[in-house]
Amino acid sequence: MALIVMKFGGSSVGDAERMKRVARRIVERKQEGNQIVVVVSAMGDTTDDLIDLSKQICEGTPSAREMDMLLTTGEQVSVALLSMAVQSLGEPAVSYTGWQAGMYTEAVHGKARITDIQPDRVLKSAQAGSVVIVAGFQGMTTEGEITTLGRGGSDTTAVALAAAIKADLCEIYTDVDGVYSTDPRVVKVARKLKEISYDEMLELANLGAAVLHPRAVEYAKNYNVALVVRSSFTQNEGTQVKEEAVMEQGIVVRGIAYDKNVARISILGVPEKPGQLAKVFTALAKEQIDVDIIVQSGVIAGAADFSFTTALTDLDKALAVIESIRSDIGFREATHETDLVKVSIVGAGMVSTPGVAAKMFETISELGVTISLVSTSEIKMSCVIKQAHLAEVVRALHTAFGLDTTEQAYVGGPQERR
Ligand code: ASP
Ligand code: MG
Repeated sequence: MALIVMKFGGSSVGDAERMKRVARRIVERKQEGNQIVVVVSAMGDTTDDLIDLSKQICEGTPSAREMDMLLTTGEQVSVALLSMAVQSLGEPAVSYTGWQAGMYTEAVHGKARITDIQPDRVLKSAQAGSVVIVAGFQGMTTEGEITTLGRGGSDTTAVALAAAIKADLCEIYTDVDGVYSTDPRVVKVARKLKEISYDEMLELANLGAAVLHPRAVEYAKNYNVALVVRSSFTQNEGTQVKEEAVMEQGIVVRGIAYDKNVARISILGVPEKPGQLAKVFTALAKEQIDVDIIVQSGVIAGAADFSFTTALTDLDKALAVIESIRSDIGFREATHETDLVKVSIVGAGMVSTPGVAAKMFETISELGVTISLVSTSEIKMSCVIKQAHLAEVVRALHTAFGLDTTEQAYVGGPQERR
C-alpha cells in the first residue's frame, strides 16, 4: 500500500462536472489500495475574481491580512465540495483547511513560507481509511493568523505535505500532460519530457515555465520527494521530476522557457569611482527590487555605462529609486526599455558541452533578431530580446537544439493561471 499525495489545480476543479471527474480519479487511486491525501486549489478563476472584488471595495491597497482572509476562502470552497463529491461515490472523505492540517508559516501575508508542518491529524485520517482533502495555498502563523503562500502556492502545499508525511509519491495533476520541452501553445512540436532533474525543473520554473511553482520544486529537491506532473484530463503517463534524469543521446538542452515580466534599465555616464555599483544595487535591494542580469561596459573618459534587468512589475519602483540617488551617483542619464522577453535554454548537460552559447547566438542572429542582454550559468543561458520575436525565436531554438517531435501535444482545458 502506498501513501500518495494528489494535487489538483484550479482548472481541474473549475466547475461541478470537473470536480466530480476529479473525485472519480481520486476514488480510482484509492481503490487500487492506496492511502490518499489530496491538495486542491480554488475553483477556476476564483482567486482572480476575489482579487477583483477587493479592488472594487478598496481605493488603495487593501490590508494584506484581510486579503489573506479573503483569498483562503477560495480553497475552502474547493475542499468541502470535493469531499462531498468523493463521499457521494461511497468513499469516506474529510476536508481540512491549511491550519487544521497543521501547515505553519512565517508571519508574512501574501507570500509566507512554510516553517513547520504538524501532519498528525492528516495522517490519522488517512490511516483510518479516509481520503483526506487539504486546502492548498494557505497556512497559519504560530500566533493563529491566516496566511497564504503566494500565487500558485498549492503546488508548494502538496510537495511540503508529501515530505512531511513521507508520502511515496506526490502527483501534480494539471491541464497539460506533463512538463514539455517548451510551451506547447507556442511550439506545436514541443515534446513531453519523460523525466527531468530537480535542478533543471527549478531553473525552468524560475525562468518562466508555469507548470510548477519554483518553491515547490525547491522543496521536492531538498526533501527528495518523488514528483510526477500529469494531466487530470487524460490517463497519459506524466513527467517524473527527480534527482537525476536521463538525457537522450545527442541532446543537451532539456527545455526552453520564456518570461515576459522583464524590463531593462540603463544608467549612462556613471563617473568612475569605487562603490558606485554597490550604491545602486543596495538602494534597489532596500526596496525589495530583484535585479537579474547586470552588464557593465568599459570605462570611457572616466565614465561607465551599465544595464540591468528587473521584473517589469518593479520598473516604476526601480526608476524612482534610481532618480532618488541621481545626485549621489552623478550619472548622466537613465533609460529603460520594455516589450522585452527573456528566452532561456536549460539543460544539465550544458556544463560539459562546448558550443551551446555559440549555437544560441547564431540561431537568434540568423533570424535577424538583436540580443540586448545575455546571462549564463552552469545549466542555463538566457537572452533578452524584443517580445515581438518571441515565437519565432523559441521555435528556431527548439529546432536547432534537436527538440522537435512529431508526437501530438495534449493541451487540455483552459490553462491553469499562475
Ligand atoms: N488559488 C491560488 C492561486 O490561484 C493558489 C493556487 O492555485 O495554487 O494562485
Ligand atoms: Mg489557482
